[in-house]
Amino acid sequence: MEDTIAAVSTAYGEGGIGVVRISGENAKQVLDRIFVSDFSLDNRKLTYGHVVDPENGEIVDEVLAVFMKAPNTYTREDVAEIDTHGSVVSLRKTLSLALANGARAAEKGEFTKRAFLNGRLDLSQAEAVMDVISAKTDRTFDVAVGQLEGRLSAEIKSIRKEIMDVLVNITVNIDYPDEDIELVVYNDLSNRISQIGDMIEKLIDTADTGRMIREGISIAIIGKPNVGKSSLMNALLRESRAIVTEIPGTTRDTIEESLSIKNIPVKLIDTAGIRDADDEIEKIGIERSKESFNAADLIIFMIDASDALDDEDMKIIDTIGERQVIVLANKTDLGRETCGGKIKTLLPKATVIETCMKDRSGVEEIENEIESLVYGGKVKQNESLLVTNARHEALLREANKALSDAKSMTDRGEALDFIDIDIKRSYELLGQIIGETVEEDVLNEVFSRFCLGK
Ligand code: GDP
Repeated sequence: MEDTIAAVSTAYGEGGIGVVRISGENAKQVLDRIFVSDFSLDNRKLTYGHVVDPENGEIVDEVLAVFMKAPNTYTREDVAEIDTHGSVVSLRKTLSLALANGARAAEKGEFTKRAFLNGRLDLSQAEAVMDVISAKTDRTFDVAVGQLEGRLSAEIKSIRKEIMDVLVNITVNIDYPDEDIELVVYNDLSNRISQIGDMIEKLIDTADTGRMIREGISIAIIGKPNVGKSSLMNALLRESRAIVTEIPGTTRDTIEESLSIKNIPVKLIDTAGIRDADDEIEKIGIERSKESFNAADLIIFMIDASDALDDEDMKIIDTIGERQVIVLANKTDLGRETCGGKIKTLLPKATVIETCMKDRSGVEEIENEIESLVYGGKVKQNESLLVTNARHEALLREANKALSDAKSMTDRGEALDFIDIDIKRSYELLGQIIGETVEEDVLNEVFSRFCLGK
């Protein structure tokens, strides 16, 4: 028998309500011991009452509770939920009572793991649960919900079906070889493997965009003092919806800002914060922004268009080197001494945009440029089937490699039972995405990234 598990499923903090969730065979028993009500606790009926400590009769909180009988529940087990007031104390006390009365503390992601093990979700859907919870922009959310609903699973299943057809075909030919049809078999096989490979490659092509949509991109703004960097930060922040910081109560980092540009989560790093400092705490902050600058996905380099490039600009150009950069020729209202041409010779890969932060012109172009860099021309802007998960991407690449090995062997006319091995391997690798052929340690790894109570 599986343990009955319990956890606080809402975020800790101050809220109108908070939820303690209990799942497993003893869920009803645990609830009966700590929940007291004048009403009968019918299946799926939200019931008014109190959480009471059975040891001493002390009332913990006034609550609503519900019991949901298996199998139509999140975990497919018996589930009980208690809506307490959203106070850390009430939640903590209610949870300890559940734990003292027959439940054990759930591990991270354990509810969702059970939903997976009991066949309610496949593995890619279970992984999407966490993405839905942590989504910061509408776009990220849509992609995650699509995956939760099984869009990726459906595509993987249809590719696997194609592979299975090929495998069946090969098996027939291995078992009943017929010299006369062999040539036809090989040509046909090679074509079919290519077609399946193309389907996988189409998914792989979405992975870069998928990763950026999910994890966001970091952009470092660099330029000499007074060139207009803060004005740019402010303009971008004003135009876009700022993202709520993850941990409430932490002091807002003045050097980094999180926002959403065209529905892409973006972390802006103002390198104005990178300067010499005596203060120890300030030094730590500066070290951090230097690291973020080095790790940034994209650099925005701002120059004064009304003036010639000076030594300071040249030093920055050296620092940028070969990295991805958008150059903003700012203060165009004051003159156009340095615009596109000159910069292009120094930074051939740069996109140059003329801006004037005084009247905020050019901001829309910057946003469009960021958007087109993220989508890279390969992915449609409204495409909701994107591979966002590094585990999935790695498996797709391996499966594709196995298929391309199988194709090379086919083209060389090697024995079918060798070719068969690689094709089977691609079938199994794709199966790992949806969790059909997956090892215990992979499962533990996947669910350890979840939060408690999910
Ligand atoms: P930072 O030191 O790079 O962060 O530069 P700021 O954003 O603080 O701007 C320095 C000064 O330049 C401020 O007085 C801004 O109002 C001004 N400034 C910024 N952009 C423009 C622009 O496009 N045209 C003009 N005329 N002034 C600007």
